[in-house]
Amino acid sequence: MKNAQDLAPPTTRCEPQPLSIAQASSLIAERVQGLLHGLAPQAMDMALDKAFGRTLASDIISPIQVPAYTNSAMDGFAFRMPEKPQAIENPCRFVIVGESLAGKPFEGNIRFDECIKIMTGAVMPKDVDTVAPFESVQLEPGKMKGSKPTIGDGVQIDCAGFNAGDNRRLAGEDIAKGSCILRKGHRLHSASMGLVASLGFSQVQVQSALRVALFSTGDELQRPGETLKSGMIFDSNRYTLIGLLQGLGCDVIDLGIVPDNPQALKQTLIKATELAHVILTSGGVSDGDADFTKALMQELGEVFFWKIAMRPGRPLAFGSLSKRLFFGLPGNPVAVMVTFLSLVRPALLQLMGREEDAGPLRATSLALCEQPIKKKKGRTEFQRGMTRRNSKGELCVSLSGHQGSGILSSMVQGDCLIVLEHDREDVSAQEWVTIWPLAGLI
Ligand code: AMP
Ligand code: MG
Repeated sequence: MKNAQDLAPPTTRCEPQPLSIAQASSLIAERVQGLLHGLAPQAMDMALDKAFGRTLASDIISPIQVPAYTNSAMDGFAFRMPEKPQAIENPCRFVIVGESLAGKPFEGNIRFDECIKIMTGAVMPKDVDTVAPFESVQLEPGKMKGSKPTIGDGVQIDCAGFNAGDNRRLAGEDIAKGSCILRKGHRLHSASMGLVASLGFSQVQVQSALRVALFSTGDELQRPGETLKSGMIFDSNRYTLIGLLQGLGCDVIDLGIVPDNPQALKQTLIKATELAHVILTSGGVSDGDADFTKALMQELGEVFFWKIAMRPGRPLAFGSLSKRLFFGLPGNPVAVMVTFLSLVRPALLQLMGREEDAGPLRATSLALCEQPIKKKKGRTEFQRGMTRRNSKGELCVSLSGHQGSGILSSMVQGDCLIVLEHDREDVSAQEWVTIWPLAGLI
């Protein structure tokens, strides 16, 4: 396994150079893989109607074929296509001998010169293979237009206008019995819940939720709901992180606010390892006098890296403690979101086995940047952006509000993050930039 130092560019200082996001991502992925055995969630049975947002712990194999029986795709008349329809007199005459309705199949036999009335979804009897929709069929001459044909009436069907099998849905054409419908690691959403139900399952095997212990650090923090004292601020990071974690289906263990006090921090870190698979903190990981989190982690466990070439979000301590994963996020509220989305979220998805969602972020797009942006080469920079379509229909993006790393309002006003890659320099107006749409992520 590589150390941060092996991945980082050579340095003459005793501290390693910051890792690029790509280096940090691969190091995290490697460490998560190493800890997977002890941290991967357990399987449990759950009622399907309670399983929205849960991750499947086993593949879903279809015990039936879908459709379960061959049925009609239209309302009309089901008949057997003559072998050479062109060679016979057209239209052909068929006598109606019965009907097949949804839930009430036709039980009798049907001869080659007979047909049945059939409704969409109703069982196609074995003797027929094709459905002529009502509007294509002529009633027998003498029948009043508009009157309904009934059993014993004759109808005329232009057989040359159809191919055998038209308007018929074959048993098993959607899903074959025994086929794998959803893979382990799939996160159940509304469509997949319906799909699982359509196979007859009322229970599914899902992963127990990943437990993530969370606390904020800082002597200046107060709980929302209290009266703000002078020099203090409300703790917002915990709420942002609770939302981000719950959005991923994690079980959040909220350990509140911990002061910048090594003893209190130590106790809380140890408690967190007993309660959770992953420990997430915010604040206290820079080089200030009150930044104890990283040093304590180094004393109690291991810290693999703590500096990333990104902005916002440069200090981010990643390590392990008693075989638990530890992410010490920066204190600045926007830096918390950016580091979570770019580095913590993929690690949590990896732990949950959510392969289909993994990768740094699935949904990236390109947009035309509507204004110049200053960018320093050698670090990844994130800006909050707002998208729109221009008159040509192209996706455009502009900066949303103030970009300071403590300013959460621009994260709420914006609808995306603009990602300026590691090697990129200043961006001119009308250059294409990568964006991460925030909808569905935050
Ligand atoms: P730190 O990394 O602890 O030096 O914090 C950096 C900045 O983020 C400081 O201005 C802190 O007051 C602020 N900050 C730290 N934790 C939080 C929090 N939980 N909620 C809101 N702001 C915070
Ligand atoms: Mg602090």
